Amino acid sequence: MSDPRRSLPGVDSLLASAEFRPLLAGHPRSRVIRATRAVLDALRGEMGESAQPALPEDYAGYARRVADLLIILDRPSLRDVVNATGVVLHTNLGRAPLSRSARAAMLRAGEGYSNLEFDLEAGVRGSRYVHCVDLLREITGAPDALVVNNNAAAVVLAINTMAQGREVLVSRGELVEIGGGFRIPDMISRSGATLREVGTTNRTRLSDYRKAAEDRAAAAILKVHRSNFRISGFTEEATVSQLAELARELKLPLFHDLGSGLLADPGVLGLPEEPRAPDSLRNGAHAVAISGDKLLGGPQAGIILGRTEIVARMRENPLTRAFRVDKVTLAGLEATLRHYLDPQEALREIPALRMISTPPEELESRSRAIARALGDTALEVRVVEGDGAVGGGTYPEVPLPGWTLRIRVPGVSSQETALRLRSGEPPIVARREDEEVVLDIRTVDPTDDETLVAALRGLSPPSSDTLSHRQTSGLQDRAE
Ligand SMILES: *Cc1c(COP(=O)(O)O)cnc(C)c1O
Repeated sequence: MSDPRRSLPGVDSLLASAEFRPLLAGHPRSRVIRATRAVLDALRGEMGESAQPALPEDYAGYARRVADLLIILDRPSLRDVVNATGVVLHTNLGRAPLSRSARAAMLRAGEGYSNLEFDLEAGVRGSRYVHCVDLLREITGAPDALVVNNNAAAVVLAINTMAQGREVLVSRGELVEIGGGFRIPDMISRSGATLREVGTTNRTRLSDYRKAAEDRAAAAILKVHRSNFRISGFTEEATVSQLAELARELKLPLFHDLGSGLLADPGVLGLPEEPRAPDSLRNGAHAVAISGDKLLGGPQAGIILGRTEIVARMRENPLTRAFRVDKVTLAGLEATLRHYLDPQEALREIPALRMISTPPEELESRSRAIARALGDTALEVRVVEGDGAVGGGTYPEVPLPGWTLRIRVPGVSSQETALRLRSGEPPIVARREDEEVVLDIRTVDPTDDETLVAALRGLSPPSSDTLSHRQTSGLQDRAE
């Protein structure tokens, strides 16, 4: 018997065919060749595995498969997804979605030139570090501010500036890992300083810091907000005010790594109290660091707020050049900060704050409307109470009470259903619980509700597409 693999057409004859002409008209030749090779490779693989491989019947069949693959290859790597997880600051999904005016400002900054580092009055070189400073001072009361790439960079910059070659005092209860590899002990050593552990995991007293500073090797005190976990029970920690007093006595700077960047009133958001940068500074911290894309609700950035002298030293540190913030980020951050001049506007315009404070009734009625729109399908849909989360390593264990859609496709596992939702355009990311797919629309823009309905309708009736989907993703794996 002849090897059926022989019956595959060659790349050259496919490319020369009339059926492939439209593909070559629409895509660079090299790309069509690449996709054609990938399709043929995949078919060859299938032929190896199956006694009766389903080969395309004609050149038009090959052209369709290549066209399907080209669609996948032409898709950007970074794609829009619908976040139906109910986790507002989902780090894996890009943290804070941006306000309309932040988006517009970023587009403008990207489109043309700007006075990024140019003094328009004097007509000479200016500094990119002047942008956002006045707004940050006005909103937080901080004497000075410095914006860098992210909070991790802010911490490295601060430690390096304050304590290179010397010791940093940190409570053993604050030697945390925030996520994405941000571990305080590693950051301190990479910043060129030495960690001096103070106290114990659950209890660290002011006297512990004092004792640790006795030998005069310490150059700074670092307080770290635990962000993504809690310790409870037999615990004790020194407050910022207490540490500030000790810092004054010992003539050491006190740096507070806060992270969350909450500037809004947590009560209005329905959240418990959380240390905020202005409080920290008022209580005597010399400088604090916050993230731009956590509860502040802006683009990825690290913001150092603090006393003029210490911020000036950080600004002059050569590392600032390595951590320098991009113009598009500065534009988005400035527009986001501007919302905070009017706290009502901040709640209305900043998507993360709006999503956190969405009333449960609104989530229930939107979920019920989606369920109704699926009434004529074979899907089993339940609308039940369920909690969202703030996410981004903030407010661990604080539920955001709301409502969820729970969906089951008869005869299809929840795993398969979730995969199909992720494979759509746009991909929809949901949670799975037991045998149901759980969608929390807190994090879905209401204008996307229809997209969600269309995608969910597409799950029913159970289609026989699953196999061909697998084939396509297999092709992609091979091609990429
Ligand atoms: C989130 C967080 C960081 C890291 O901030 P990025 O902006 O993600 O770099 C550092 N410290 C604390 C306390 C945090 O919560």
